[in-house]
Amino acid sequence: MPRISEKIESVQTRLLNAAQYAELPLLLAVSKTRSADDIQEAATCGLIHFGENYLQEALPKIAALKNLHLVWHFIGSIQSNKTTDIANHFDWVHTVDREKIARRLSEQRPETLPDLNLLIQINIDTEDSKSGVRVEDLSTLAEAISSLPRVKLRGLMAIPKPRTDYAEQLAVCQRVRTEFERLQQLYPEIDTLSLGMSADLEAAIEAGSNLVRIGTDIFGARPAHNQAEN
Ligand SMILES: *Cc1c(COP(=O)(O)O)cnc(C)c1O
Repeated sequence: MPRISEKIESVQTRLLNAAQYAELPLLLAVSKTRSADDIQEAATCGLIHFGENYLQEALPKIAALKNLHLVWHFIGSIQSNKTTDIANHFDWVHTVDREKIARRLSEQRPETLPDLNLLIQINIDTEDSKSGVRVEDLSTLAEAISSLPRVKLRGLMAIPKPRTDYAEQLAVCQRVRTEFERLQQLYPEIDTLSLGMSADLEAAIEAGSNLVRIGTDIFGARPAHNQAEN
């Protein structure tokens, strides 16, 4: 099996090809279920941004790697009893989908830290089971977040349901992009569209994503997560 460093090189080549001489998207390495050693190896290859989904698993890794000064993104679903730890240990949160959560993150973000960067997750496929705000409720949530102290609304995130056809991937990514631009009209300072994973990063970048979240294609196939450990 290729080493993490070779996998990162191949992902970076895909990013270069997809971006076609335009600005490269930020590469967020999704490190859920990976060891601190794997993360350290990826950091040695120059990666700085890491995404975690499960708080209990993430906190010891963040503590163990403190000296590397990595940037930590919370990308899992958020229960309201977890917001204190998120507000204290992360730099970005991609999965804000209700005002209550944004309000708690704002109240709990220590004043000694820089503002917490927030992305609103939209439920672009309108799946009942999925988290994310519905498109029609996006403006209301954005307005609520934009008035909160110690957090900064930076943009949008989406997890479209898996599709194998490129044209279909592109179409859904473009719908996310349209919502992003609509939001940017209202809040010109937002600058981040978090869209694209291992299987659809090319379509996401063609649609204008500037932050891709890549797990499998950096670290290899994932072992199953034990939900009881959340
Ligand atoms: C796991 C995960 C990813 C990475 O997915 P891969 O297909 O392994 O690249 C990206 N975003 C979120 C929100 C995830 O939970």
